[in-house]
Amino acid sequence: MSKIKVMSENLANKIAAGEVVEKSASIVKELCENSIDAKAHSIIINLEEGGKKLIEVIDDGEGMNEEDAPLAFQRHATSKIYKDDDLFFIDTLGFRGEALPSIASVSRVELKTSDGNTGTHMVIEGGKILVKEKSSLKKGTSIKVTNLFYNTPARLKYLKSEASELANCTSFVERLALSHPSIAFTLNHENHAIVKTSGSNDLLKTIHEIYGVSVSHRMLEIRASNDDFDLYGYICKPEILKSNRNHMITFVNDRVVKNFEINKAINDAYYTYKPDIKFPIVVLKINTDPTLVDVNIHPTKQDIKLSKMEELTDLILKTIKDTLYKNLLIPDAVERMPESNEAKQEFVENRIKESEEEYIPETIQTTIDFAASEKTTSEKNVVVNPEMKELKLYPVGLAHGTYIIAENETGVYLIDQHAAQERINYERNMKALQSKTVSTTDLLFPITIELSQSEFLKLKSEEEALKEMGFKIEEFGLNTFIFKGHPTWLLEGHEEESIRRIIDLIIGGLQGFDRIKFNESIAITLACKMSIKANMHISHEAQEELLNELCACDNPYNCPHGRPTIIKFSIYDLERMFKRSMN
Ligand code: ZN
Ligand code: ZN
Repeated sequence: MSKIKVMSENLANKIAAGEVVEKSASIVKELCENSIDAKAHSIIINLEEGGKKLIEVIDDGEGMNEEDAPLAFQRHATSKIYKDDDLFFIDTLGFRGEALPSIASVSRVELKTSDGNTGTHMVIEGGKILVKEKSSLKKGTSIKVTNLFYNTPARLKYLKSEASELANCTSFVERLALSHPSIAFTLNHENHAIVKTSGSNDLLKTIHEIYGVSVSHRMLEIRASNDDFDLYGYICKPEILKSNRNHMITFVNDRVVKNFEINKAINDAYYTYKPDIKFPIVVLKINTDPTLVDVNIHPTKQDIKLSKMEELTDLILKTIKDTLYKNLLIPDAVERMPESNEAKQEFVENRIKESEEEYIPETIQTTIDFAASEKTTSEKNVVVNPEMKELKLYPVGLAHGTYIIAENETGVYLIDQHAAQERINYERNMKALQSKTVSTTDLLFPITIELSQSEFLKLKSEEEALKEMGFKIEEFGLNTFIFKGHPTWLLEGHEEESIRRIIDLIIGGLQGFDRIKFNESIAITLACKMSIKANMHISHEAQEELLNELCACDNPYNCPHGRPTIIKFSIYDLERMFKRSMN
């Protein structure tokens, strides 16, 4: 029996919307996914002129027999989906069967395939079979697409620049390789290997092969599950961040997906571990029952809908936060590994930058979900770095009135005193702001605040929230409030300034008052104000106290703006730099 079946007209119509062949990357995608379905162990992709001149995909999969081969170019033929019900399960990679005939209708396709017994060679141009002959070939399939859109000049125009098409293909093949570490992928562009993975079935090794050693050595393993989802993957330490979101790579049941909520959960988990404008490298495999995956989503889109999205995003947020929390995240001052892949990576990055408009724009607002961060049962699943957090730092001195020099058994450290104190104060403020019990201090001299009518009304609508926070506040004549007391955590000597800042935050808030965002914002602002500035010489005792307090923080490694607080010179690095050690 042939493996490819002809699907019903009804089903064909349903998935016809998915039949979009307009970019080199979508052709590469379709051909590679066919190879994966054919159980290939090795997939080689050759491109010329970013795929405009040539796209060739060679695999060592099952291949097709004589009957299957021509059937593959018939419309409504698919090896994957052949009943309407099957549409319900997107546990296969996508929707196939329409792609090959579509590609063949707008280009010249040369197919060589063999199931190990019979080999078939076919040439199809503009949908017409020009050559079909038996041939002796080894098992597998190779498909060569040339003259793309030769007969549809209107679509030809839609192809982007060579660099941009190549960047899209590269980005796609990288994602595919990461989602299938057991398959060896090679992407060659005009005889230069751009992507090469070994098919080791080791995700970290695949990350290494794609991003280079400087990234793979700074990845932390994550693993967690709840009733509906299993997570596995790697997240980067905050010392290696990217300036775009394209490196948060997620798979649902081995299918590459781009989902706003999932990306937001990943990004939020790094809150205060990184600046808002930087984004982590994360490779995350999500496995779930295919029935939870919503099918009513355009099959060519990489987006996905899940019926238990909140459970999933909670698990992601919590797992990543816990992993960051439990690992030692002090960046080494010295780059230890040779950057062998740097040139390649830079090349690809530049290409990808050019094509960034390809990606769905997202505006990720950094808010943090405190409810989700409460300890739940999946905690035991978090993989902890052997260097479990037991940080202790001893001060040696102060350089430039700015950097504390410290040491311990494993190395010498530089600590930015302002950033360090900012972190300490931020965590203290957050705890005070979140605490259920509020203590209030009366103001010796009450502060009156005069506002415009609209500002007054806005503040009035949040009067209760202010009282809950520990402010003693009353109306005091026309458009005026009087503050008679404030929560004790407010910085002494800066009460009026802080109150005015809080009022600004309330009045300036667009959609009403968001307590969580407000707490964050006020905690950070006040932390910065409360902290010693650079160029202030603090005593040895003060340094000692600062370091102890920093080490006791939930995240001692970054200030609340995401900048680093500590940098390490390991003993090994120092010995190497002074040539005490030659390896
Ligand atoms: Zn600051
Ligand atoms: Zn800061």
